[in-house]
Amino acid sequence: MHDIAAPRPLLPSHRNPLKNVSARPRIFVTRKWPGNAVAELESDFEVEVWPEYTRPPIDVLRERAAQCDYIITTIEDPIDRSVFEAGKGVLRGITQAGVGVDNVDRAAADELGIPVTNAPGVLTDATADLAFALMVSAARRIVEGDAYVRAGKWSSWHPSLLLGKALKGATVGVVGLGRIGAAFAERCQGFHMRVLYTSRTEKPGAAAHGWIRADLDTVLKDADFVSLHTPLTEETRHLISSRELALMKPDAILINTARGPVVNTDDLIQSLKQGRPGIAALDVTDPEPLPVDHELLTLPNVLVTPHIGSSDHPSRVAMLEVAIRNLHAIHAGERPPSPVAGV
Ligand code: NAP
Repeated sequence: MHDIAAPRPLLPSHRNPLKNVSARPRIFVTRKWPGNAVAELESDFEVEVWPEYTRPPIDVLRERAAQCDYIITTIEDPIDRSVFEAGKGVLRGITQAGVGVDNVDRAAADELGIPVTNAPGVLTDATADLAFALMVSAARRIVEGDAYVRAGKWSSWHPSLLLGKALKGATVGVVGLGRIGAAFAERCQGFHMRVLYTSRTEKPGAAAHGWIRADLDTVLKDADFVSLHTPLTEETRHLISSRELALMKPDAILINTARGPVVNTDDLIQSLKQGRPGIAALDVTDPEPLPVDHELLTLPNVLVTPHIGSSDHPSRVAMLEVAIRNLHAIHAGERPPSPVAGV
């Protein structure tokens, strides 16, 4: 494996000395991943792993697109038109180790015929777990409780200390009943919550669970907890803005593990100041990463985790494995298991 210390110079692939020395196809991996899957690629490919903790800059992505056959990306890498254009005639595929692909210009991939794949399914349970954990943490004020103890404020048991919301019997609204939304709804059902959902299409299995389909406004008005599970698209950008937030119950809890821009952040800040919703529990934010001096973090009724929805060890290993499976399929001239563009 080539864990480089500094970016290699920009060279078109036909002038790339490494490529001339080695006939093996080249792969650029934009992050170090847990597990052995990258190491196992080395028998057949020339593999370079970006050594930094933070993402490679866009000029590095363009350089590697011009030099490499494949790039294994994460949801934070900005794979825009310029990257595809740089890779024209060289790049044979982008395989993303994540399900959301809002960071990828799929129209450019289609136009230039460069396959893009994602990794759906293997992170469903991990992300649903985190959404559920955020919901319980906010409802039962777990993070506040920990801070209270650490601040030396725990002087007595008191009947009114850190009163929270009950889950049993409460109504939860699931916005986007896809893989993760449904897995989240199953967890809620296990806790005897009533499930409402909104989705573009009727979900055939939902009625058998007793989950009720309603329009977005009804879900927002009726739910004690609202959890977002849509992809980020032009249709869902700012799906939750002032008007929608104003429909929520004053003490409702909003959970977002989808994508930050599904919620209008400025509107959310204003609404939270008025206590509607009562609490926002966010794994994803806009912007991301959230600067430490961001106004959201000045509000006491906000709980934030750093986009760790899929971050349990087996899921992260599996995400990379799916990306590599897609890569192998493209390399073999076969249709990849999870194409999202360019195929
Ligand atoms: P999925 O199975 O495709 O589910 C997405 C659901 O959203 C579908 O049911 C879809 O409905 C629905 N939807 C799309 N547009 C909608 C709209 N305008 N209004 C209402 N519903 C809409 O995807 P998934 O695997 O569950 O993943 C969902 C998203 O979660 C990803 O795209 C990603 O952004 C996010 N995610 C975040 C993390 C994290 O770390 N926080 C981890 C994994 C995924 P139809 O079926 O009717 O089209």
